Amino acid sequence: MWSGFSCRQRTIRFVTGIAVLFLISCHSATPQSKPGEPEINDVHFHLTNYIQNGTDIHDFLSIMGNKVGRVALFGIPLQQQWSYQNTGDFAPTYYLQTDAPLYYYSFTDAYIAMAYQSLTPKQQARFDPMITGFNPVDMYAADHIRRVLQTFPGVFSGIGEFTVHKEFVSGKIPGESASLTNPALDRILDFAAEVGLVVLIHNDVDAPFPKEGVEPVYLAQMKALLKKHPHGPIIWAHCGVGRIVRPVKQHAAMLESILSDASMQNVYFDISWDELAKYIVASPESVRITADLINRYPDRFLFGTDEVAPATQQKYLKIYSQYQPLWERLTPEANDKVRKGNYERLFDEARRKVREWEQANRISSAAGSGMLQSGKGQSLPR
Ligand SMILES: [Zn+2]
Repeated sequence: MWSGFSCRQRTIRFVTGIAVLFLISCHSATPQSKPGEPEINDVHFHLTNYIQNGTDIHDFLSIMGNKVGRVALFGIPLQQQWSYQNTGDFAPTYYLQTDAPLYYYSFTDAYIAMAYQSLTPKQQARFDPMITGFNPVDMYAADHIRRVLQTFPGVFSGIGEFTVHKEFVSGKIPGESASLTNPALDRILDFAAEVGLVVLIHNDVDAPFPKEGVEPVYLAQMKALLKKHPHGPIIWAHCGVGRIVRPVKQHAAMLESILSDASMQNVYFDISWDELAKYIVASPESVRITADLINRYPDRFLFGTDEVAPATQQKYLKIYSQYQPLWERLTPEANDKVRKGNYERLFDEARRKVREWEQANRISSAAGSGMLQSGKGQSLPR
C-alpha cells in the first residue's frame, strides 16, 4: 500500500483528485453525523509552532466552530534557535530553514496549561491538553511529566506528540540521540501507564528514502518497545510514516502485524498529517487497502489533523476533506469511530484516571520543594 508514484499513478491520482472535488461539492462529508453535531474530534493538534508562536486559543475555538468537537491540544517541544551566525537577519520559523540546532523548550507545557485555564469550563471540556516539553533521552523526563501534572492539576490527559526518530529533526538536537531502546523512554511509558495518560508518539518506522523489500529499520525496536508497555493506550502518530519516509509496499501488512497481535492490544494509530493523507488517497487501490484495514480494526484508528497554528477553518480542516475518498469506503461503524468515537473512549477514560491520580498525589504548594518528593502511588525510583 501507499508505494511511490509512477506516471500512471500520477494520472490516476489526478483523475481521483477530480473525482474527489466532485464528490466534495456534491455530498455532505459525513453522512453519519446528525445536523448540529460535531463531525470530528482531532487527536493531533499543535497550537504553537517551532518558534512557540501560535493561534490564540479563543480564536482557535472559533476555527473549530461546530465542526470539531474535541481536540488533543499541545505545543511543540522543540524550539528552533535563531542563530545569527547561521542565517543572519533571516529569522527561521521552521526546522528546515536553518542549520542551527533545536532545543527542548519545557515552558510549552506551562503555556498550554495557562491557555487552557483562560477558558470557561464549557470551553475547557472541548480540549484534552497533552504534556510534550520533555527530552526522551533523559531519565528525569518522567519527573518533568509528574511536575507538570502536580503544578497544573485538572488540565492534562496525555503526553505527546513527542518524537523519537524523525528525519532531519533528530539530528538537529544536540547531545545524545533519542532511541527506542533507551531506558529513559521505558520510564516515561511506565509512568504514563501508572497515571492513565494517553501516549502520542512520533517515530518514523524507517530511515529516509526506504528501499522496497527491506524491513523498516526501526520496526523491530518499535514492536519490542510496544510489547514491553502493554498497559496504557499508545497512539503511533501518522501510522509510522514520515515526511520523506514514504510508506513502502506492505505498509498495511506491517500495521496489521501489530493490530492482530494480542500483546499489543493497547496500540492505536492516528491518520493525521497531509503527508500521510497524500499516500492514502493516492489511488483507488491505496484507498481500498487502507479502508479494508480500518474496517477490520475499527477501534484502533483515530482521525487527527497535525495542523500547526492554523489561521482559518479551511486550512485547519484541509486534511479532513482530503480524506473524503476514505470516509466513503469505511463502514458506518468504522467511519464514526475513527472520526469521533475512539477519541471519546480513550480520552474520557484518561480524564477519569488522571484526575484520580492527581487527587491521590496532590502537593500542598506548586512552588514547594515537595514536588520532587514521592506522593501516594509513587512507583518511580528516586
Ligand atoms: Zn508527528
